[in-house]
Amino acid sequence: MSGIPFYAKRWVSGATMPEALERISTLNSKKISVTLDLLGENITNLDQAKACTNEYVLMLEEISKRNLSSHVSVKLTMLGLDVNEDVCFENLKAILSKADELGNRVALDMEGTPYTERTLRIYEAAAGQFKSPEIVLQAYLHRTEKDIERVLKANGRMRLCKGAYKEKPEHALQKMPDILANYKKLMQRLLKEANRICIASHDDSIIDFCKSEIFANKVPNERYEFQMLYGMRAKTWETLASEGHNMTVYLPYGEHWQAYYSRRLAERKENIFFVLRNLFRD
Ligand SMILES: Cc1cc2nc3c(=O)[nH]c(=O)nc-3n(C[C@H](O)[C@H](O)[C@H](O)COP(=O)(O)OP(=O)(O)OC[C@H]3O[C@@H](n4cnc5c(N)ncnc54)[C@H](O)[C@@H]3O)c2cc1C
Repeated sequence: MSGIPFYAKRWVSGATMPEALERISTLNSKKISVTLDLLGENITNLDQAKACTNEYVLMLEEISKRNLSSHVSVKLTMLGLDVNEDVCFENLKAILSKADELGNRVALDMEGTPYTERTLRIYEAAAGQFKSPEIVLQAYLHRTEKDIERVLKANGRMRLCKGAYKEKPEHALQKMPDILANYKKLMQRLLKEANRICIASHDDSIIDFCKSEIFANKVPNERYEFQMLYGMRAKTWETLASEGHNMTVYLPYGEHWQAYYSRRLAERKENIFFVLRNLFRD
């Protein structure tokens, strides 16, 4: 029996890995790939960080054993970044080395600005040693345009999202039209120059913009994918997949669902009403 309350089940696939693996199989049957995420962040104890690392290694083994189409997403604060950066990097290396061995990918989710520089630095070091890492950049941050240069120099593999954490004006754009304009500007470049760009958004304006850029620039299929969160716009996942685009769903599981769930409700001021209005819209 899943330990996820009914109101969070829209966004969280289950409490355990077997429940999540089951869900991946269903999505794969609809030509939808997954990026699998173990929920939990800001871990303060290195034993816990090690346990999470082991769970990610097991996840990669299970994905491979079951021949599923799924990579994984991980937050560095789950691997001990708040406690000891060197241990965090060692934990990440264990996951990346398993992913390299199995020919899979590992996305480093981007957390709030206290972690941006350290996450980028760890990603750069990892990209020098492993094939599997990719990083997430956030279009609302003023620094992202410069950070893109660093990612393109490292391995050119990234996900671009708008950004989900509350940030001060000195760090981040505050108005949605400005964030949207910056997202499109950055994405226009990334569709041309990135080795792999993951378009993480539920926003029709972004999806339509990317589709026309992909078409106009003949961006090859293996260089991009659309990504959306589990629980958001399921019919659109199927439409994009049926149009021949790579479609990946970010699928979280685990008992520590509260912080992730709160971000989903808080990321836009209309979101509470929006959730109620759109509960049955696809
Ligand atoms: C795969 C993925 C990974 C992510 N990883 C990170 C990360 O590592 N770090 C981070 O900070 N953030 C991450 N995010 C969150 C992201 O930064 C945004 O907070 C979140 O995606 C909301 O922005 P949006 O562009 O999707 O749409 P919003 O700004 O929420 O919405 C814009 C418009 O999209 C449409 N829309 C949105 N949802 C729906 C719906 N359910 N049905 C119909 N229309 C809808 C509406 O027209 C809405 O007005 C991730 C998001 C995704 C999809």
